[in-house]
Amino acid sequence: MATRLPSPPRVGMVSLGCPKNLVDSERILTKLRSDGYQMSPDYAGADVVLVNTCGFLDSAKEESLEAIGEAIAENGRVIVTGCMGQEAETIRARFPQVLAVTGAHQYEQVVDAVHEAAPPIPSPFVDLVPESGLKLTPRHYSYLKISEGCNHRCSFCIIPSIRGDLVSRRPDAILREAEKLVAAGTKELLVISQDTSAYGIDIRREPRAWKGREVVPHMTDLARELGRIAPWVRLHYVYPYPHVDSVIPLMAEGLVLPYLDIPFQHASPSVLKAMKRPANDAKVLERLRGWREVCPDIAIRSSFVVGFPGETEADFQYLLDWLDEAQLDRVGAFRFEPVEGAAANALPDPVPEEVKEERYARIMEKTAAISAAKLAAKIGRTIDVIIDEVGEEGGATGRSTADAPGIDGEVFLRDAGHLAQGDIIKVEVEDADEHDLYGVPLT
Ligand code: SF4
Repeated sequence: MATRLPSPPRVGMVSLGCPKNLVDSERILTKLRSDGYQMSPDYAGADVVLVNTCGFLDSAKEESLEAIGEAIAENGRVIVTGCMGQEAETIRARFPQVLAVTGAHQYEQVVDAVHEAAPPIPSPFVDLVPESGLKLTPRHYSYLKISEGCNHRCSFCIIPSIRGDLVSRRPDAILREAEKLVAAGTKELLVISQDTSAYGIDIRREPRAWKGREVVPHMTDLARELGRIAPWVRLHYVYPYPHVDSVIPLMAEGLVLPYLDIPFQHASPSVLKAMKRPANDAKVLERLRGWREVCPDIAIRSSFVVGFPGETEADFQYLLDWLDEAQLDRVGAFRFEPVEGAAANALPDPVPEEVKEERYARIMEKTAAISAAKLAAKIGRTIDVIIDEVGEEGGATGRSTADAPGIDGEVFLRDAGHLAQGDIIKVEVEDADEHDLYGVPLT
């Protein structure tokens, strides 16, 4: 039985006013897209309409009120944001039916209001952001989407049919957004897309002016610029194309976190071929070795699918042996599940459920043992940690450079009551288990 995906909610947007307001609209829409919303070009198709208002002049206010009135008449479910948000009473007096009114730059409140009016549908098949991130994204870390869509056609994936081919954002727009996020308190930027290493291919690497220099839309150039803006920059969904080598020195220099999230999905050449995976290169292990020579602290995170149609015991054993060699720091594993519309559903030789379960248990055992050994080797070392939460009894929870929020491990701290969310501090590691570290702050 293929899994049927419910249709994502659709948001309409009316953006008024100056270019700053337009950037705010772009940022709200980027966040909503990464939360799984689709955009509606008209009132009729929208589950909720956002009106981003301008209140600079009386004429602009009147225009904003007219736009709210039109959206209510045409759709009825309206959220107001932007400069006129300061005049919530005027808006509510004239349009008591508006669902929410938020002010300029209050991104989180607008996004929360949309979530309430038209709840997002979490889907492990299309979401880039972990579900836990959707609920909890605090101010000190932010997801930064650099492109939408994908040029690959992996046989188990329906994203290209839902989101289309790769469309990269302009580098200057991304950097502007990054600056705003950092000004609003973000310490860690999580760069996301469907294929981060392909960034810029579709816009022919055309450079754009940024702060008196030119920035080429290429993953490495973008990562370097982002590293100048935010204390921590973490790269997700990177495929190991040869040009990825050029980003590793930036990690060694400390400009970008020594972390790469590479969704390998499998190692056996025949399974990778059936999956139609990009960057399916037999020399990946050599590349990993080379990266570790340049940046010994690099943490590699990946995900794998077990029980893909046609996967034999030999293919699965190949994967386990490959994992022994690759010594990945963080691994997520999934049992293959057909998703409605995916080409892989038509492949022969489905793997029986009990075999999938057994392979899943074996890969989890293998990767937990590798992770436990790697974390044990950190005991006694001093590492950098970002604080996510400070508890009431002097404890705090944070993450090391090897831990992305929601998907990797955590660092549990004692004697940490003096710290605040978003602090980046030195920690001495005192203990470790399969996934997490335990330590004490040195600052
Ligand atoms: S690279 Fe493959 S799995 Fe990833 S979005 Fe593109 S088609 Fe889907």
